[in-house]
This record gives sequence, C-alpha cells and structure tokens, in this order.
Amino acid sequence: RMNVYNISTGSQALNEIIGGGIESGSITEAFGEFRCGKTQLSHTLCVTAQLPHEMGGGNGRVAFIDTENTFRPERIIEICARFDLNAEDVLDNIVVARAYTSEHQCELLDHVAARMAADRFALLIVDSATALFRVDFTGRGELACRQQKLNQFMSSLTKIAEQFNVAVWITNQVMSTPDAMAFAADKKPIGGHVMAHASTTRLALRKGRGEQRICKIFDSPMFAEAEATFAIGVGGICD
Ligand code: ADP
Ligand code: MG
Repeated sequence: RMNVYNISTGSQALNEIIGGGIESGSITEAFGEFRCGKTQLSHTLCVTAQLPHEMGGGNGRVAFIDTENTFRPERIIEICARFDLNAEDVLDNIVVARAYTSEHQCELLDHVAARMAADRFALLIVDSATALFRVDFTGRGELACRQQKLNQFMSSLTKIAEQFNVAVWITNQVMSTPDAMAFAADKKPIGGHVMAHASTTRLALRKGRGEQRICKIFDSPMFAEAEATFAIGVGGICD
C-alpha cells in the first residue's frame, strides 16, 4: 500500500513491537482493564500525530470521539511541553466530539468524514469504541443486535481509515467473568469476532509495577507475540 506511515506511541519499546508506531489506513485496538493506560495512550497520540513524519508523526489533525468524558485538554498541554510543541496550536487541531449513545457515536462518523474531506487528518480516536454499545444493549436477547450495530460501526471505521489514510485508534474493555478474574491473562476483549475481524492490530494492556504498563500483541497476522513495557508519565506515554 502506498503512503502508509506510523505514528509514535511515545514509547520506543512499544513502537518497536508494532513496526514503528500505529499504522495509517487501518485500525489499531488497545484493550485492557480500568487504568491500564488506554486513555493516556490516546492523549499521547493526539500530540504525536501532529508531528512531522520524520519525527514519528502523521503531520495532520486529530478527531477524538470521547464516549466516557475522559478527554482532558490539560493533559494535552503537558504532553506538548515534552515534544516542544505550541499547546494552543495542537489543541486547535484536535476535534473532540462527545458521544452520548451508541447511535450518536455512529452518527458522529459522518461528521468526522466530512471534516476529513476538507482538512488533512492523521488520526481518528474512539475512546471507548464499545462502552456505549454495552450500555445500550444489556439483555442477553440483545446481543445479536448489539453485534450487528457494532459491526456497522467498525465497518465505517475501516472505510474512513482507508479513504483518508488516517490511523484509527480505538480502545476496548475486557470481560470480567469469574474465570477471567482468576486468570488475568485470560481476560478477553469485548465484542467477540466483530472486533477481532475489524481491528488489524490488537494490543492487550495490563498493569505492571507503579506507573509501568505491559503491552502484548494479541493474535496478529503481521507481528510476533512480543511484549513491551512502557510507562505513563507527565509527558504522556514513555519508556
Ligand atoms: P484507562 O483509560 O485504561 O482506564 P488511563 O489511560 O486513564 O486508563 O490511565 C490511568 C493511569 O494513568 C492512572 O492510574 C495513572 O497511573 C496514570 N496517569 C494519569 N495521569 C497522569 C499524569 N498526569 N502523570 C502521570 N501518570 C498519569
Ligand atoms: Mg479510559
């Protein structure tokens, strides 16, 4: 494929196991339990995506669909200081849209696509891709419907990734079944085969000591089952 670029995660170790950073033109999914760093990675990518290509960036704007009200401009300002970027300019280049329902989340993609047709974007973030679907389709009898709607959403993401050659970064939770709670390594992402099919690269995140986090490549057709340790600091994700 032509013109594929990678956006740095902020951690050299993590970049290395995924071929230099998250890739344009496809979907990268990060899943893991609460506080494992999904939103902090999202914030760091908001900044690195705007760097020039030769500095590990995507040289473009960022669209951020925020479903859990966790986007924090203050964090962007702190991360900008690390990369020596003007925080006001960087914030101006991030289009943040809060999604309130799964239906609203799907509709927002039309607006995102319209913005991307007008301006050069490098990255689309959906943090979290699945949380509102879990809330809106709770009963056992609604699972098929949820999967169908989620599949439509993921297909739209794939289309946007390819049409505008942007990197798509999505976050996902893990199921908390009694078995999964007993064996942390067995924690499975939400969304079953729909998510497995749509995400090109899947990253399983877990907590290490203190601010350390561990990322493992999950079921990749392209990368070895490698692990990387990274940290969450004031300046975002680092080694
Ligand atoms: P998730 O989205 O996976 O639930 P987060 O990305 O929100 O998790 O990560 C939360 C963690 O990030 C906190 O537990 C803390 O360790 C770390 N963190 C948050 N803000 C900062 C900061 N300003 N400086 C350093 N670490 C931070
Ligand atoms: Mg989060």
